[in-house]
Amino acid sequence: MKYIGAHVSAAGGVENSPGRANEIGATGFALFTKNQRRWKAKPLSEENIAGFKEQCQRFDFPVEAIMPHDSYLINLGHPEKEGLKKSRDAFLDELQRCEQLGIQKLNFHPGSHLNKHSEEDCITVIAESINLALDQTEFVKAVIENTAGQGTNMGFRFEHIAAMIEKVEQKDRVGVCIDTAHAYAAGYDLSSEVGFEETFAQFDLIVGFRKLMGMHLNDSKKELGSKVDRHESLGDGLIGWTPFKLIMEDSRFDEIPLILETPNTERWAEEIHQLKQWAGLVEDKVES
Ligand SMILES: [Zn+2]
Ligand SMILES: [Zn+2]
Repeated sequence: MKYIGAHVSAAGGVENSPGRANEIGATGFALFTKNQRRWKAKPLSEENIAGFKEQCQRFDFPVEAIMPHDSYLINLGHPEKEGLKKSRDAFLDELQRCEQLGIQKLNFHPGSHLNKHSEEDCITVIAESINLALDQTEFVKAVIENTAGQGTNMGFRFEHIAAMIEKVEQKDRVGVCIDTAHAYAAGYDLSSEVGFEETFAQFDLIVGFRKLMGMHLNDSKKELGSKVDRHESLGDGLIGWTPFKLIMEDSRFDEIPLILETPNTERWAEEIHQLKQWAGLVEDKVES
């Protein structure tokens, strides 16, 4: 089964997100469990939690199909004590919110060195941040997203991610999410069939497919290797449809959330329909 969807809004409460995902024909979805641009958030209420679980059941979203994204403010590789503490506290809160909702995976950007410590030190701090958070939670998995390498962001090479995982103690509670636009901007040319196979052969060798716990399906506005993170609707950017069709036809991408973060929300239903068609989840033909 392929869990295909988009990062939908949780405005008005997390319990509203499953219905929004259902409206666009999704079989999976992502959300923010709190405002992603604020440090603090109200705790989830009993009503939020019960409502979310009820709506997931109502619209037939199994827990495997859901992967929230954490706040953009969090930097688990922060070079300074105060900034690091703030980030670690907020990350723990995000993981706890997932556990309250019964969600098994939280997706996050690993962190940035801010030119104040080395890449190696940053990786060590990130892994330590993950260890601390996993020690204080029970079951939710920490899913590291590859980045475009914009600014001082780490995680744009598969080697960075492998090095982080290497230092995580609870190996069964750490995984990876590959964002196609980030990979392309970082220099992995997955736009052609040959490039796609080469990229994921490298991923398998360096990180391993068993660690793949989600995908973000985005086309890219920016060039290969540009290290600039700008998402585009599928087929409208420099990547094109090829890798998205290949992902849908490839069983290595089964049973994990496959999430659109494309900018034009009006097109999500259409994008999902096309992907579902390639995945064999719908019969009828549409123009692509
Ligand atoms: Zn992300
Ligand atoms: Zn992403």
